[in-house]
Amino acid sequence: MGNKRSYDYSPVHRALEIGAIIAMFILAGVLAWRSWGGIADQTGWIVVASAIFAGYVGADFVSGIVHWLADTYGTEKTFIAGPNLVRPFREHHRWPEDITKHDFIETNGNNCLITVPVMALVALIPIAPGQHVVLFGVTAFLSLSLSVFATNQFHKWAHTATPPSIVRAMQACRLILPRDHHQIHHTPPFDRYYCITTGWLNWPLRILRFYEISEWTLRLVLRWEPRAYTLPTDDERVSPSPSPETREQQPSPA
Ligand SMILES: [Zn+2]
Ligand SMILES: [Zn+2]
Repeated sequence: MGNKRSYDYSPVHRALEIGAIIAMFILAGVLAWRSWGGIADQTGWIVVASAIFAGYVGADFVSGIVHWLADTYGTEKTFIAGPNLVRPFREHHRWPEDITKHDFIETNGNNCLITVPVMALVALIPIAPGQHVVLFGVTAFLSLSLSVFATNQFHKWAHTATPPSIVRAMQACRLILPRDHHQIHHTPPFDRYYCITTGWLNWPLRILRFYEISEWTLRLVLRWEPRAYTLPTDDERVSPSPSPETREQQPSPA
């Protein structure tokens, strides 16, 4: 390891990510406390259980949409989305195993920067005991936020050669994104299986031709042209690429 830091981005962004992760856990505690106060009867428990499940499935859908948008539209220079969304996914395709070298902060911080402001707003919503609709909404959002938080970690484990045995067991039970399942996305033509939380929605979205229909709609309405799969060019690159040693370890593109 030496004294070389394991991340390669600005200390300010690093500090922001650490703050966002701490804020995320505090806000998750506040939302959980709100939900707890809203459970008045047995129905309340059923509402909470179904909301947790809905949030978990919802995170898989959100991961698929965000990943598909980043892989399909814009360039690394697109305003805001380019460096924050397009570039990480494009570089992930070029060096898929690099994600396993990211530490906890780098893996999870960016997601928290997006979820924390919305969580802060939802934390303002009071839940009176027995208000099942509000209870469902707040709990589902809490579950969605925590599942979005976990998504990059699950994605990282899907690229890890030997993850901890508990993780392997969860992958085998398909509770989280399995390694072989995710490899379908990293195989030509790179246009399917974008969901990276559990991957549960990959097959239904494929059967429904969800991405094809969305691309067709966006072309018709916004005139957005989907990009055929290409590797990032040097011209597109807006930040330093991984170190030469890292590149040597992953010479072949996805
Ligand atoms: Zn991708
Ligand atoms: Zn991947």
